[in-house]
Amino acid sequence: MNDVLPVESPRWQYFESIARQLMASYGYQEIRFPVLEQTQLFKRSIGEVTDIVEKEMYTFEDRNGDSLTLRPEGTACCVRAAEQGGLLYNQTQKLWYLGPMYRHERPQKGRYRQFFQLGVETFGMAEWDVEAELLMMCADLWRSLGIGDQLQLEINYLGSSEDRASFGKALHDYLLPLHDQLDEDSQRRLGSNVLRILDSKIASTRELLVNAPRMADYVGAESSLQFAKLQQMLDQAGISYRLNPALVRGLDYYNGLVFEWTTDKLGSQATVCAGGRYDNLAKQLGCGATPAVGFAMGIERLLLMLEATNRLPPGLEQQADVYMALVGQGVLAQGLLLARDLRKTFPALRILTHCGGGKYNAQLKKAFACGARCAVILEGDSSQQQAKFKVLDTEGSALELPVTALASELARFFNLD
Ligand code: ATP
Ligand code: MG
Repeated sequence: MNDVLPVESPRWQYFESIARQLMASYGYQEIRFPVLEQTQLFKRSIGEVTDIVEKEMYTFEDRNGDSLTLRPEGTACCVRAAEQGGLLYNQTQKLWYLGPMYRHERPQKGRYRQFFQLGVETFGMAEWDVEAELLMMCADLWRSLGIGDQLQLEINYLGSSEDRASFGKALHDYLLPLHDQLDEDSQRRLGSNVLRILDSKIASTRELLVNAPRMADYVGAESSLQFAKLQQMLDQAGISYRLNPALVRGLDYYNGLVFEWTTDKLGSQATVCAGGRYDNLAKQLGCGATPAVGFAMGIERLLLMLEATNRLPPGLEQQADVYMALVGQGVLAQGLLLARDLRKTFPALRILTHCGGGKYNAQLKKAFACGARCAVILEGDSSQQQAKFKVLDTEGSALELPVTALASELARFFNLD
């Protein structure tokens, strides 16, 4: 699990501010729920025979002997919270959340035991329109982050849950006689979660799948129509995509649309964002039937991508705009009050005061180091009428001016009203 140190946190803030703005611009509302849930919630939603539930959950007993789990994903939590908050009955909802998820995986680049997801979940809408909106939202986010050219969209349509079930049966019937040639994981899944075999990475299993029944042949007319409309909309929105019939996603609860946004910049941790429709989950969790579609993206992977492709905006590492150097005991109180007044006048300016004393040169060194564009210097044994103003990206000498003229000097320098 990673700490986010001060040099890294501006990147997170940058991502979060863009994401928040985008969610708001689409009229989506934020929901927050706990990081801990009853273990049963994840077993019932994600499915017993999935990587997450089989080997990745942090599960423990609390003092009452209840089995609790650190949330490995947000979808089930979101459904639970929405249901308990009365948001599902006869309503539509467009929600988002951002927070840490926990999975006991082998840590490597782009894969951690605590990682952050931005998730979006919508409830109560059964048609292609909301699916298209979600994909447009993703595309807009990539564009705002400057990585629109770095991510590829893959989509597939699993059909209704009935379609999915009859396809699952056909696949099972096809693979059963080939049981002994399957890899060990796939043999296990044959009896429990047969669709997952489609995403096997094992070459020999992939070969057996070449002649397997195809999902597309089992998708009913209504689903096919929905999928066609969705594709048409993507074309209209200028979003390019690839149809990938092998895309099934790891979780049990998907039906209809499934999709992934992938990159070739992160090695095998290629999926940055994934989602789809899950109309059966609410019912499966004991809530009323509620059509639902959503996605989640891994924020660490996105930040790694922004770094690898040099798309982070310049200046993120700057700690302050103005450094206030206070040389001499006599100007400390004056300086602290002055800085506070200036912050009140210019709330957008980051003014970092020097605390802890030290010589003029030592203080200026810190001013340069923090990335400030200018320094204000007060110097002496008692309160001063005069201050110095120094631009930090040049070798030029400091300008001397009355303390009362500092505000207008800063306004001029930073182009503020
Ligand atoms: P993967 O195939 O890479 O294990 P997944 O299918 O398990 O991904 P999801 O459950 O769909 O992932 O989660 C959505 C997104 O969350 C992923 O696309 C990825 O960006 C991110 N993610 C998942 N697991 C991790 C992890 N352990 N560390 C960092 N990011 C992760
Ligand atoms: Mg995984």
